[in-house]
Amino acid sequence: MDFSLSEEQTQIQQVARDFARNEILPRAAHYDETAEFPTPIVNQARELGFTALNVPVEFGGAGLGALEIAIVAEELAYACAGICTCITLNSLIADAVDLGCNENQKKRAYEILSKGFGAYCLTEPGAGSDAAALATRAERTERGYRLNGSKTWISHAPQAEIMVVFAKTDTDKAHQGISAFLVDPKAPGVNVGKPLPKMGQKASPCAEVTFDNVELEKEALMGAEGEGFKLAMKVFDRSRPMVASVGVGVSRRCLEEATRYATQRKTMGVPIASHQAVGFKLAEMGMKTEAARQLVRLAAWKLESGKNCTLEAAYAKAFAADTAMESAIEAVQVFGGYGYSKEYPAEKLMRDAKVLQIYEGTSEIQRAIMTRELTKLYGAR
Ligand SMILES: Cc1cc2nc3c(=O)[nH]c(=O)nc-3n(C[C@H](O)[C@H](O)[C@H](O)COP(=O)(O)OP(=O)(O)OC[C@H]3O[C@@H](n4cnc5c(N)ncnc54)[C@H](O)[C@@H]3O)c2cc1C
Repeated sequence: MDFSLSEEQTQIQQVARDFARNEILPRAAHYDETAEFPTPIVNQARELGFTALNVPVEFGGAGLGALEIAIVAEELAYACAGICTCITLNSLIADAVDLGCNENQKKRAYEILSKGFGAYCLTEPGAGSDAAALATRAERTERGYRLNGSKTWISHAPQAEIMVVFAKTDTDKAHQGISAFLVDPKAPGVNVGKPLPKMGQKASPCAEVTFDNVELEKEALMGAEGEGFKLAMKVFDRSRPMVASVGVGVSRRCLEEATRYATQRKTMGVPIASHQAVGFKLAEMGMKTEAARQLVRLAAWKLESGKNCTLEAAYAKAFAADTAMESAIEAVQVFGGYGYSKEYPAEKLMRDAKVLQIYEGTSEIQRAIMTRELTKLYGAR
């Protein structure tokens, strides 16, 4: 077994690392403070192909695989998880396009994603973890469908030029009644709200989106009616290793910041890292960051090999998100009073880490997925 990265993967890692350290790190505090969208950084990232990581090369994307995407996400998130989300979110929409669209739809969607932004509209005010409970409706009309309903927490809704929207085409059914549509945010009846104020990852805006009698052509439907829920779950199998990798990046940053501080700060005449209670925090961070990275790479490898990776993607997402949060809490503790200060990086890391346990399926939902998959594998028959 060979754990080393290929020459090409090492190069991609180096480009992402340099970009993160030179362009994101110095400006991260500004975007956290102002909650502005980091347009200049995202434009630079686009030149490197990072905003269209998995869009095929023939459509202007970077055409990268799951492992390479994870490598890039770890590096960008090390510098700022919020700006990383701004840069990499398109890969979630591109996954939906790849899995659910026909050739005409792909051409249109990929061209938009390689130059601009997309949004993934699943969550509603009354339906998050329980996606089957969503209430947005797509009624059939002569020309296609009429869309009504509202979504919330939609990342990059204010920037989006294309939306993947999940709606019920059959309200008598739960999962099987859901279909997916490609929607133009400029269509009459689509309204995007103001960015929602939030705790962390402030550079990455989320907003409510409402659909008020939005007329869709038949060609807006992705795949067949009733296939939306399955599509959403398949997309998450692909996107969760990348989100997990954001957790790895955050946790690695916590480890490095806390270790640097713990070897400089002295109490009782010695660096605080020499106190076992502090040193062991660094040990836990190091051990769990590496374990999270390996879970990400296992899930990415299974994905790339065409194997089912639902279980491994859930392992990676929950473990890396929980590790990022734990490392951030401990980093604040290692910094003592300074950990609580905005002058030091630990408090931002803690605010940025928290949402990793919530979006793309909460840590509880990941454990529910693991339970389901494990009972399929090992349950008594
Ligand atoms: C910053 C941010 C960005 C987001 N971006 C997007 C986006 O771009 N697109 C999008 O569609 N959504 C997005 N979301 C929404 C996100 O995916 C949901 O918030 C998430 O799935 C949880 O849903 P909920 O908020 O409705 O919580 P709920 O589902 O109401 O859950 C509340 C609590 O109950 C727990 N819980 C619920 N059901 C179960 C169960 N069966 N077993 C055990 N525990 C359970 C949950 O784990 C959680 O702790 C984003 C959210 C945030 C905060």
